[in-house]
Amino acid sequence: MMNITKEFDTIAAISTPPGEGAISIVRLSGTEAVKIANQISHYQKKSLEEVPTHTIHYGHVKDPETKAVLDEVMFAVMRAPKTFTREDIVEINCHGGMVVANQILQLLLRQGARLAEPGEFTKRAFLNGRMDLSQAEAVMDLIQAKTDESMKLALNQLDGKLSHLIRELRQKILEALAQVEVNIDYPEYDDVEEMTSIILVNKAREVQQDVAHLLQTSRQGKILREGLSTAIIGRPNVGKSSLLNYLLQEDKAIVTEIAGTTRDVIEEYVNVRGVPLKLVDTAGIRETDDVVEKIGVERSRQAIVDADLILLILNQSEALTEMDKELLTLTKGKHRIVLLNKVDLPRKLEEGLLKEYLEEETVLPISVISSQGIDALEQAIKNTFFNQETSGKDATYLSNSRHIGLLEETNRALQEVIDGIEQEMPVDLVQIDMTRAWDLLGEIIGDSVQDELITQLFSQFCLGK
Ligand code: GDP
Repeated sequence: MMNITKEFDTIAAISTPPGEGAISIVRLSGTEAVKIANQISHYQKKSLEEVPTHTIHYGHVKDPETKAVLDEVMFAVMRAPKTFTREDIVEINCHGGMVVANQILQLLLRQGARLAEPGEFTKRAFLNGRMDLSQAEAVMDLIQAKTDESMKLALNQLDGKLSHLIRELRQKILEALAQVEVNIDYPEYDDVEEMTSIILVNKAREVQQDVAHLLQTSRQGKILREGLSTAIIGRPNVGKSSLLNYLLQEDKAIVTEIAGTTRDVIEEYVNVRGVPLKLVDTAGIRETDDVVEKIGVERSRQAIVDADLILLILNQSEALTEMDKELLTLTKGKHRIVLLNKVDLPRKLEEGLLKEYLEEETVLPISVISSQGIDALEQAIKNTFFNQETSGKDATYLSNSRHIGLLEETNRALQEVIDGIEQEMPVDLVQIDMTRAWDLLGEIIGDSVQDELITQLFSQFCLGK
């Protein structure tokens, strides 16, 4: 870990999301932060350069050239090193809306600050040793967290739980490697080759088990992070949009714009007992009016492909139709829950006929209108994804694809160690794979990553973070 704060130029950005709000925050970080802020401050008593650290000051923002007063603001002055970036930071709390915030930002840029790149504040926190890479990634996850569970997950990571685990694994590998060196340099026994092999293979097995355990959590972790893509499928009038609206009510809906895509791409999320469902093709559900059955099936086809979970709705107050059968066949083998809706009405659906299309999946009688069976549905969704251990509060879920990829590679490198020893390969060759496992783990926490990767990772952040 680097401990010395490096000197960078002073960066500025609007740190609050675009759109209307009571206040906006313009943030400055770098050696000149306080000086630059002071140049635009119209402050009665003291220069910002003289105020104590971590204090907040009422004042105005004034254009030093035109002398025009722009806004009434609060300046928060935080001196290094106890700041988010470990540099001097000034946060200017101004009035909401983009116009004022933008004008202030422009002023700061004219005074010598540089517009921050996306994620650059967090990147500095990383480069200045304030946090490791997996923690920096957690900051991004926090910003994008969709449910309390995913928030907890990110907070755990920010807390360094994952980093701690990874460091322990690296330590184990390092100890084995050190012991191998000692054995080679100072052979005490005649069978030193054999001894060394045993040490390596045992350690590789031990670490591989820990890695496998972490990887097991990755499916849940990824769902918590990205949402479980879920398609609500069924022929017209079975109650798809009723169910969708039911799930979307009670403040459960989270609407997110996907970064980097056009503004009209909106994803809908609902939080079902801590599981974020990312609803697929909700637009298709809503335009039910004159959709001919044919189009309905075509449309469902794509949604079925894209979904990890399918909620297939049948109307149990009517006999099975051709389209029902077609959809049952199309979703066969996929992860699905079959819902028999409208149980408040007399049953017409033929049990025997339906059975022919079913496998082992959960079949639930529900009525969206009278809220029957919805609890069971929510429980079924939750059970599928947090079976035994459920969301243990202290669980460290692996959720980030980069981390998952690196751990899978680590796993393979360790397997090569084990195979190598079993095939009686020379120890120095096996050592190479063991060292590679150590390096790969290091990449997760950023101990052995290249600049390029760092730049790419941080560029995924939003502006102002
Ligand atoms: P979609 O075309 O599949 O989206 O179906 P809708 O959600 O628009 O529902 C079609 C009709 O069925 C509407 O008139 C709903 O009020 C009605 N409906 C939905 N769920 C139930 C239910 O559980 N019981 C009864 N009796 N009617 C329902």
